[in-house]
Amino acid sequence: MLPDIKSLTPKTLGQWLAEQGQPAYRAEQILKWIYVRLADGFDQMTDLSKAFRGLLACRFTYGRLKIGQVRTAADGTRKFLFELQDGQHVESVLIPERNHDTLCVSSQVGCAQGCRFCLTGRGGLVRNLAFSEIVGQVWETRKQMDDPAHLTNLVFMGMGEPLANYTQLKSAIEMLTNSDWGMKFASRRVTVSTAGLVPNLLRLGQETRVNVAISLNEVHDEARTRLMPINRKYPLAQLLDACRRYPLPKGRKLTFEYILFKDVNDSPAHARRLAQLLAPLKAKINLIPFNPYPGSRFQRPDEASIQAFQAVLIQKHFTSVVRYSKGEDIMAACGQLRGMVVKSIE
Ligand code: SF4
Repeated sequence: MLPDIKSLTPKTLGQWLAEQGQPAYRAEQILKWIYVRLADGFDQMTDLSKAFRGLLACRFTYGRLKIGQVRTAADGTRKFLFELQDGQHVESVLIPERNHDTLCVSSQVGCAQGCRFCLTGRGGLVRNLAFSEIVGQVWETRKQMDDPAHLTNLVFMGMGEPLANYTQLKSAIEMLTNSDWGMKFASRRVTVSTAGLVPNLLRLGQETRVNVAISLNEVHDEARTRLMPINRKYPLAQLLDACRRYPLPKGRKLTFEYILFKDVNDSPAHARRLAQLLAPLKAKINLIPFNPYPGSRFQRPDEASIQAFQAVLIQKHFTSVVRYSKGEDIMAACGQLRGMVVKSIE
C-alpha cells in the first residue's frame, strides 16, 4: 500500500523531494495545496507539471478521513464521527459561536486515564492518533463548511489525553498553526486540555505557544484520585507547582476546567478551596455543569448551586465563566458519540 502524502511532515516531504531531484520550494507548493487550499487531490495542484503530479499519484495516496456520521443539534453544534483507515472511530465537535466557530478535536482512540465521569475513559486506550489523523479532523471539517475561514479556534478536548500523545500532538500543532503553508490557526486560538500529565505539560509550554487548560475538577487529593486516577501519579501539589512554573506567554492565563458534579464537588467550601489553590496563579476558571449520559453515576447540580459556586470565585476576584454544554441533544460531550456507536456495533 502506498504511503499517504498527508502523513509526511514538511521535513520528510522535503527529503523525498530532494531524492527526486526536485527544488526545495516544491515542498511549500505541495503543502499549500493540501493545507491552505484544501485541494481534493493531486490533479488540482496546477502549478506543478502534469508529469510531476503523475509521479505524486504513483507514489502516494491522498488520504481522507471517512465521515461515518454527522449529527446536528438544535443549537447548531455539529458532531462528526470519523472512521479511520483501520476502522476505528474518533469524533470532533464543531461549535458555532457568534463571530467564529470552534472545533473540539480528538487526540487518541479511547483513553488510558480512566476518569470516572467520562465515557471515553471506560473503554481504555485503543491507540494514539497519528498527527495526520489529528490534522485530518480539522481538514475534513473545514471541507464540510460553507465558510471554512469561520473556523478559527481549536480545542483539544475530544477523545483522549493529548499530552499522552505528545509527539504527534506537537507535529499536528505545527501543521495547524504554520502561517506560510499550514492551516494558519493563531496559537492563542488553540487550546490543549490535559488531565494533568505534569512532565509533558511543561514541555508543551516550552515548545509551543498554544493555550493550556487543566481539567482539575476536585480540590482534595483523595477525592481527585477517585475521580481522576492520574492524580495518584501527579497529585495536586505537583500539578499546581508545574502550573506555577509554566512559561506563560505574556498577557495569557492558564485555564482551569472544573466540572461540577451534584453533591460531589459543588459546595461553597469546594469553591473556597479552589480559590485558595489557584490564588498564586494567573488563572481563569471555566465551570462546566456535568452533562449526564445514560448510565452515568453523576448528576448535574441545580442552578442555585452552580451560581453559588461561581459567586465565591468572583468574590475572590477570579474570572469565572459557567460553560453550558453545547449540543446536549446529540451528546456532544467528550467521547459520547463514539461510545454510543461502538455500543451499537458491539
Ligand atoms: Fe481521558 Fe479526557 Fe476522558 Fe479523562 S476526561 S478519561 S483524560 S478523555
